[in-house]
Parts: sequence; structure tokens; C-alpha cells
Amino acid sequence: MPFRRGRDARRRWRLSAKLLIASSVATVLGFSAICASVMLDMRRGEEELARQTLENLASGVDADISRNIELYDLSLRAVVSNFVMPEIDHVPKELRHLILFDHAATAQHFGAIQVFDAGGNLTVDAASLDPQPENRADEDYFTVHRDHPDVGLFISKPTLYRGAYAIVLSRRITGDDGRFLGVVVGSIRFSYFHELFGRLNLAPGDTITVLRRDRTIIMRTPFDLDVIGKNLAERTDWNQENLKEGSAFAGKGPVDSTPRLYVRRAGSSPLFVVVGKPLASIFSLWRTEAIRIGAIMAALIIFVIGTALFLAREIGRRADAEDKLEEMATTDALTGLRNRRKFDAEIEIEWRRAARQGQPVALLMIDADHFKAYNDTYGHQAGDQVLVGIAICISDSVRRAADCAARFGGEEFAVLLPGANAVEAFNVAEAIRLKVLQWCEGEILTTVSAGIASMRPTAGQSWADLVEAADKALYAAKANGRNQSVLASVPKIALVA
Ligand code: GH3
Ligand code: MG
Ligand code: MG
Repeated sequence: MPFRRGRDARRRWRLSAKLLIASSVATVLGFSAICASVMLDMRRGEEELARQTLENLASGVDADISRNIELYDLSLRAVVSNFVMPEIDHVPKELRHLILFDHAATAQHFGAIQVFDAGGNLTVDAASLDPQPENRADEDYFTVHRDHPDVGLFISKPTLYRGAYAIVLSRRITGDDGRFLGVVVGSIRFSYFHELFGRLNLAPGDTITVLRRDRTIIMRTPFDLDVIGKNLAERTDWNQENLKEGSAFAGKGPVDSTPRLYVRRAGSSPLFVVVGKPLASIFSLWRTEAIRIGAIMAALIIFVIGTALFLAREIGRRADAEDKLEEMATTDALTGLRNRRKFDAEIEIEWRRAARQGQPVALLMIDADHFKAYNDTYGHQAGDQVLVGIAICISDSVRRAADCAARFGGEEFAVLLPGANAVEAFNVAEAIRLKVLQWCEGEILTTVSAGIASMRPTAGQSWADLVEAADKALYAAKANGRNQSVLASVPKIALVA
């Protein structure tokens, strides 16, 4: 039983080495998953925070622009409604000026309101009682009202207007009979946007874009004259669906290649605002943290896996060493067969198993003939070689896994054949004997004698009875002249034929 216990222990060692690696890998994977999920949550948090900040910014900008456009539009409406009063043509210029532009907004960045007649000629100018002749019949803020009565407030593309970049706001003047009487025109200079954006605390890379509903860029900071006036709806390489009203979008925008988080304000004003912040700056703190935690995690993973592999290797080495030790403890050094200790353990196990299963177990006792004489003639070392040769002949003939060939002592060998009946065992003995004979043909003249016994264990018997029976048969073989196999004459009840 000590051998079996040893085997079980080694199996446990190997299992624990595998368990150690598996549990380390599972732990590492688990911690990595938790870490990744926490980091992703943090990233989502950063993105959400940035989105809220951008929404607030967009909302502030949008409110300012909407309010100013609305105020200015009120002035334009007032001019339109006063202009169509029939009495207006009959009052002196100065009075007409007062009536028309009484409520007109005169803020710093708003251009003076002008009125053009149906032919596009300047008729009234808030800035002058006697304006220079001017014709704007070709401008889109004129033609759009002339050709489409229902446009309402029209906001032009950015344009050079009276010496400064501005957007032009215009409304149609319609007579009582629906006739086109001209347009009222005002302008909001770019200086308004510059001042508005200048008040904000923008980080490098942040963008604010003001667009017309048809996606024409009205203004953008950072300011770039090349971008102003471009219509993004014409861009085929950018999906317009990416940035719907009131939504956010993370990625490359249509203007430059910097990936940003863009937020678009929902609103009803004729202009809308999109603000953007580079993803790199939104996630810069997070990235530093992620790299730090990632590096710590990587170091921990390397340490844990490294330690587990080292320990597993040590465990494996220990199991191997035990294997080797047991091998050495159970093997005969000269012949490589099992030694006597192992044989005693095996015969005990197999005898019990045979008793349990009602199966026969056979034993061959094989002894070299006249070996003393051989030793005396050729020397002890030559004798050893013959013993090795006989061992090879034996192991060549004994092939089943359960069979056990051992050196019983001196020049005597024992072969245990579990499950073999007398005839089968006799055949194995003969095979060995003939093999030795064949091998010895030539100068070395050695033969072996074999005693064979096969018993089905019964109550009151022990394996010593089997050994004794095989021994007796061996003596008989010797007595009969050697170089032969003799089957034991065991009591009928135990003999297995
Ligand atoms: P028998 O045919 O009756 O068995 O004659 P035998 O000479 O073989 O028997 P005996 O028991 O008289 O002698 C056994 C001899 O085996 C004695 C010893 O010299 C030799 N012997 C035992 N062990 C070893 C060994 O390990 N190496 C060598 N070379 N000889 C051994
Ligand atoms: Mg002998
Ligand atoms: Mg002997």
C-alpha cells in the first residue's frame, strides 16, 4: 500500500499545481474585469460631465444669440409695420425717421437699419437722412423676399456689409394688396460674436460653431475665414445624422480632423449652436489614471502569474523527484526489473484483488541453472551480464500492464501474472525459457528453470501458499534436470487449469 499512497500523493501534487495556476488566472481575470469596468465607468462619468458642461455652454451662447436676433428682429418688424402706414409718405423726412426708427435697436454691433424699395434702391437709412444712392437688387437678402413672400426673417450668409464682416437680417415689406414694396435690412457684425466668444473661458481646441438651419457656418471659434460661409450639408464625407438637434456626438467633426465631443443645442431660433471639446482633453485626466492603474495591474498580474508558475514548477519538480525516488525504491538496480520490496507489495495487492473478484493469479519462479559454476568460470561481472540478459528475456515476454516481473533475489526471478490460469502461465514460462535458450546459443551457455503455480484464492490461503507452490515446482524442475518449466501440483481445489 505505501506505493499506492505515494502515487495518490503525487497525483494530488500535480492537481494542486494545476489548481494553483487556474485559480491565479481566475483571480487575475476577475480583478482585471473589475478594474476595466471601474475604469469604463469613470470614463463614462468624465464624458457625461463634459457633455453637461458643453450643454450649458451651448445653452448660454444660444440664449445670447437668440435674444439679440429677436430684439433686432423686433426693430425690423417695427420698421416694416410703420413703413406701410399710408401717412408715412406725407410727413417730413426727420419725422419719418423718428417714426420708423424710434424703437430700433442701436446696440454696438448692430448695423443701421436700411430700407430698399421694390427695385432694390436704398430709400431710407437709419444712419443718414440723405443716404448715398445704393442698389442691392442682386443680393440674396433682397431677391429671396422678392421671389418668396413667406420667408419671414431671412438671415444671409456671412458677407462684407458696409465695410465689415456681418450677417444680414432682412424682412419683406408687403403692401396691403400683397405687392412687394421692398425689404428692411439690418446687420449683426462679427464683432458681436467675437465679443461673445471672448467672454467665455474656452480651452485650447474647444470650438463653438454657429450655423444657419441649412447648416451654413455663420461663425466659428477658433476663427477661420475659410470655414465661415461653408455649407456643411454639402459635405458628403460626414454623416449629417451624427449630430441631430439636442444630441451629442463623439468623433471627428465635419470641419477638422480633431476628434471631439460635440453637443448641439435644441432651439427654435433661426441659428443653432454646436460646441465641441477635444476628446483628448476630456479624457486626459482619465487617461493618466487609466495608465497608472493599468501599469499597477500589469505589474500585479505579472507578479501573481509569475509566482504561480514558479510555485507550480516547484511542485512539479517535487512530484518528479518523488517519482524518481519511488522508481529507485522499487527497481532492481542491476536488471531494471521490480525489486523484492515492490514484488511483495504487488503480490499482496493482486492476491487480495483476485480473492475479491474470484479470479486466478499465477506466479512463475525462474532460476538460472548452474549459475555458481558460470560465475566461477566467467567471473562475477559476466554473471551479472547474464542476469541482465535473462531480465530482458523476461520483460520481453511479460507485456500486460498488471503483470509484475521482479528480481526475487540472487539469480532468481519472480513473475506475477494476475488473471492467468495454469496453462497461460506455463506458456509464458516456456516463452521465457526458450527466449533465454535462444539468446544463450553461442558462447554463453545459460539456461533457466521455471516453477509455475496458478491459484484462485480461497479462504484460509495466503499468497505465501502461491509462492511456496511455485517454489516447489521450481525445485522439481531442477530435480528433473533443469532447463524446463514445471507446473505446481497444488491441491485440486485451488488448481486452475
Ligand atoms: P542451480 O542450478 O541449482 O540453481 O545451481 P546454482 O549454481 O545456480 O545455484 P546456487 O544457489 O548454488 O548458486 C547461486 C549462485 O548465484 C551463487 C552466486 O554466485 C550467484 N549469484 C547470486 N547473485 C548473484 C549476482 O547478483 N551476480 C552474480 N554474478 N552472481 C550471483
Ligand atoms: Mg541457480
Ligand atoms: Mg538459486
